[in-house]
Amino acid sequence: MNTIEQFNSHVMQTYGRLPIVAEKGDGRTCIDENGKVYIDLGSGIGTNSLGYCDEDWAKAVSEQAFKLQHTSNYYYTKVQADFAERLCNVTGYDKIFFGNSGAEANECAIKLARKYSFDKYGMDRHNIITLVNSFHGRTLCTLSATGQDSFHNYFFPFVEGFINVNANDIQDLKSKLDGSICAIMVEFIQGEGGVIPLDREYIKEVENICKENDILFIADEVQTGAGRTGTFLTSQAFGVKPDVTTMAKGLAGGVPIGVCLTTNQFGDVLVKGTHGSTFGGNPLACAGGIAVIDKVATPHFLDEVTKKGEYIKEKLSKCSEVDNICGMGLMLGISLKTKKASDILVKACDNGLLILTAKEKIRLLPPLNITYDELDMGLNILIRLLEE
Ligand SMILES: *Cc1c(COP(=O)(O)O)cnc(C)c1O
Repeated sequence: MNTIEQFNSHVMQTYGRLPIVAEKGDGRTCIDENGKVYIDLGSGIGTNSLGYCDEDWAKAVSEQAFKLQHTSNYYYTKVQADFAERLCNVTGYDKIFFGNSGAEANECAIKLARKYSFDKYGMDRHNIITLVNSFHGRTLCTLSATGQDSFHNYFFPFVEGFINVNANDIQDLKSKLDGSICAIMVEFIQGEGGVIPLDREYIKEVENICKENDILFIADEVQTGAGRTGTFLTSQAFGVKPDVTTMAKGLAGGVPIGVCLTTNQFGDVLVKGTHGSTFGGNPLACAGGIAVIDKVATPHFLDEVTKKGEYIKEKLSKCSEVDNICGMGLMLGISLKTKKASDILVKACDNGLLILTAKEKIRLLPPLNITYDELDMGLNILIRLLEE
């Protein structure tokens, strides 16, 4: 029995998988069990922010594994304290809750917003506005928050209290504001929704509306955070400071993590016994996270992310099949004129290139430390496939 048959006979078929059995990786290349090499412009959906097995990252995580791999959150660890401090320093937030995934980070944000409102205003001020075409996760609550009808099937009843409004339409948002709203939750760039950046003015207005009405402004930076778009948080590029920001995907370089960040104003809302996670703040994840911050959170590194994004845009915009490129930094969505992104994804894989799709677009989330030579290698394959 080959690996794929073995796998499929024991693992639920919840993904449309490509026929690659990834065995190891090195820098920006992934190697399958037959020794075939792939240049990776997807980073495991943006998780491997420093590529595969970055030396400093791997050393940090493995040294931590030899020292202390986990302990209960009834005790303290130095590595969690160090990571929390570093993350607060680079994001400008004051308090963190640690979980293990993007969905968990968002669950925490939702619980925080509802409890803040409950503590201050009592029952019935629990609704959260989210945007049409958003994506916030796969748990029942974050699926309910997700503003795409295609996710609202089978699993009834969904969690109550989410109201969708159209992105970039401030009138629509204002028309939904009543005394029942406790939070507004947005992605600055809708990732799964097709790499669609929101308007700067809209985001500014959302921030103001939240301030004026004592509504929490929640930013889901699960995909856009940790340097992905050329600033450590994308809110920094939009010139806003949300009350709550969630991060996950690339934050620990490929070990599971999810964090909910907030300011001192909301840092005491979730008190003892109101929230928790067995694995949250796991020492391996924290060690990985410190290694990522050490590399990513420097002006030079972040400038390079922006420049590499511009380089990709410039190179791909010369390709006759490319209709439009959107996104920021190394989070890009590419619309095609005649070809289907899903077909290109399969062909790319045959040709030694890993990419992603989002809706009808090709999506690129390359490792943040990719070199120009590696980018050329990947883009040349992609352009060849697009033009053939
Ligand atoms: C991936 C993603 C999530 C869900 O993260 P998981 O780690 O899969 O739970 C939530 N929000 C956004 C914006 C994402 O891109």
